[in-house]
Amino acid sequence: MGIRTFFDRLFGRTKDLADGRSPAAGRANGNGHGTQMACVDCKRTFLFEEGEQKFFKMRGLTPPKRCPGCRMKRKHRR
Ligand SMILES: [Zn+2]
Repeated sequence: MGIRTFFDRLFGRTKDLADGRSPAAGRANGNGHGTQMACVDCKRTFLFEEGEQKFFKMRGLTPPKRCPGCRMKRKHRR
């Protein structure tokens, strides 16, 4: 009896975790101000956060054309 409940819970939990997983969809914490941008690589929209925008402006950089995931990939590939 106890074992079954244990397994049900275990598998239920695992399933929940798998279903609730959304790759590269990190929720912006705090106020979600920003601009929706379209990634040129995967064509997905991503949030160019207000803080990031300021950072890019301050450094005189052009806004990113890729989502954080694709940017990371490129960085790692080099
Ligand atoms: Zn992308």
